[in-house]
Amino acid sequence: MVGVYPRGVRRAGYSGSVNSSDAGRYAPSPSGDLHLGNLRTALLAWLFARTTNRRFLLRVEDLDRVRARAEESQLRDLEAVGVTWDGPAVRQSERGGLHEAALETLIRDGRTFECFCTRRDIAEATSAAHGAISLYPGTCRNLSAAEREERRRERPAALRFRSGGGTERFTDAVAGDYVGPVDDVVLRRNDGAIAYNLAVVVDDADQGVDQVVRGDDLLASTPTQIRLARTLGHAPPSYAHVPLVLGPEGKRLAKRDGAVTLSDLAAAGWGAEEVRDTLLQSLGLPGGGLENALAAFDPERLSREPWVFRGTLGRGTSG
Ligand code: GLU
Repeated sequence: MVGVYPRGVRRAGYSGSVNSSDAGRYAPSPSGDLHLGNLRTALLAWLFARTTNRRFLLRVEDLDRVRARAEESQLRDLEAVGVTWDGPAVRQSERGGLHEAALETLIRDGRTFECFCTRRDIAEATSAAHGAISLYPGTCRNLSAAEREERRRERPAALRFRSGGGTERFTDAVAGDYVGPVDDVVLRRNDGAIAYNLAVVVDDADQGVDQVVRGDDLLASTPTQIRLARTLGHAPPSYAHVPLVLGPEGKRLAKRDGAVTLSDLAAAGWGAEEVRDTLLQSLGLPGGGLENALAAFDPERLSREPWVFRGTLGRGTSG
């Protein structure tokens, strides 16, 4: 179980080296119950890893958006649809030593800067700028020591990535060739919390994750994560950004769309296995246990279109 740390164990220091054994992973944020879209992504991540003989890891991304008991129910629901993982699930919040050490490396190498902007400052500065993607407008990128000193008296600084800007290109197993801008993202918030973009890069590298399968809402943050990985001396993983599940309105599936979690669906008479089979069918795969799906899975044939969930799971009972 190389690279999998039991709960509560922190590794001291930061070697900057990537673990050699290959792994895929699913990394849910414990903000509530998983819905059909999350479960479908988890099944895909599992299928991608298992068909390529990788280990499959489960990492609970609990640095923020944590709701009581969500972790427990998420792990239970994943198991109920047949997703299994190697070693114990790991909590991101217990890996703070690694995140801090990586941040120290970036600070030492001059790859960070202090930022005093409020959300509003940024919204005002970016609405004046053009372009669909809103990148950090650069307000605090080149403050003098005296200016920083003065600003620190007003509010604590967040630390941002001095990324160098420009773009990164990569080939996504589902989305294809992708090129996008690199952003000076927040690495440590001004309340001291480590931010997602840093934690995800550090944890994937440390855990030997070389295959990232996740929802395509994260596609645009990938160029920045690739740059961050390289800056820390890691080879970026391969990526597969899979289409989200949409609700009947054509928007990303959410609670408002009715029975969308395993427990909602159980109340409407659906067993976990039926839900699993419906999700597999939506992927063009046979149901009845994940071995069949594994044998039939071909990433090349995966649809690039979102699956629209109409609130009935195709059987008309719960809509
Ligand atoms: N924790 C993130 C989420 O649930 C996923 C991060 C990732 O897969 O890179 O949205």
